[in-house]
Amino acid sequence: MDRTATDEDVGRVVRAAERLGLKAHPIPGAQRTAIGLTGNKGAIGPAAFENLPGVLEVIRVSHPYKLVSREFHPEDTVVSIGSVAIGGPRIVVMAGPCAVESLEQTVAIARDVKRLGGDLLRGGAFKPRTSPYSFQGLGEEGLKILAAARKETGLPVVTEVLDTAYVDLVARYADALQVGARNMQNFELLKQVGRAGKPVLLKRGMSATLEEFLLAAEYVMAEGNPNVVLCERGVRTFADHTRNTLDLSVVPAVERLSHLPIVVDPSHGTGRRDKVIPMSCAAVAAGADGLIVEVHNKPEEALSDGPQALTPELFAGLMGRLRPIAAAVGRSA
Ligand code: PEP
Ligand code: MN
Repeated sequence: MDRTATDEDVGRVVRAAERLGLKAHPIPGAQRTAIGLTGNKGAIGPAAFENLPGVLEVIRVSHPYKLVSREFHPEDTVVSIGSVAIGGPRIVVMAGPCAVESLEQTVAIARDVKRLGGDLLRGGAFKPRTSPYSFQGLGEEGLKILAAARKETGLPVVTEVLDTAYVDLVARYADALQVGARNMQNFELLKQVGRAGKPVLLKRGMSATLEEFLLAAEYVMAEGNPNVVLCERGVRTFADHTRNTLDLSVVPAVERLSHLPIVVDPSHGTGRRDKVIPMSCAAVAAGADGLIVEVHNKPEEALSDGPQALTPELFAGLMGRLRPIAAAVGRSA
């Protein structure tokens, strides 16, 4: 829509789309509102829309993902989680334990994250573990602990929802819903988080192509939720010096094709503490909008992913390293 288009103009386009049996998705931006149209079986002629008041141009989106594509929405999308904006000039850092283990552990780590300049608290209450005998998370008890840590520190909370059965429960406690790598193509879960009314942190599947990744985000957006943050967390390759191969080239690739913000997880991406700081720096240099990193106050006692957790001291070091790199690429941290 034109910069000067009114709500009434937007409503008129939405009604025109609905009369044609289409679904309209108005997405307001800083400069202008874009209205995505989906649900068409074949091509739709621009004539039905281009002469309506307030319409600037009708663009045919050539990719299979529509609402996610930059063709449809040229400006960067900024997603707010609580009071934290992701996709703007500031690099956002989400940090915390892999798993919520206890109130004391989570609050202590959250205080460190806050004191050292982190923006959001991460931590799993429901854990997707390779072995059924590994710690599976504290469930709702873990969600309550996260809420207590938020109350203590003011940090918004991002936590994983593992299954459709828990979407409402997790949404009651979390500020953002994380969909993990193993669930990136759990289409029913994507639809439900799309309807849950909370921002979504969508992690890339460990063998997902960029197109599959963006189509997963499209599932969430198609349900009416424009607040999706993408996350690169490493893919499976033959390399065995790291847990996964962190695919930083996906950052500029996403930036070209999509308006959505993308953050990088160098913790799962490498699986090794000593690789987390260098790859965080590289991610910010490559244009990532933020980081999600695992921090533990006693990594040697962690119930999951201890070997990749930064200590609070190392996290402080990371924050110090990021600032000049962010400045060098025109951002702040
Ligand atoms: C996590 O971030 O807690 C997690 C399980 O990561 P991933 O889904 O990327 O493996
Ligand atoms: Mn983990």
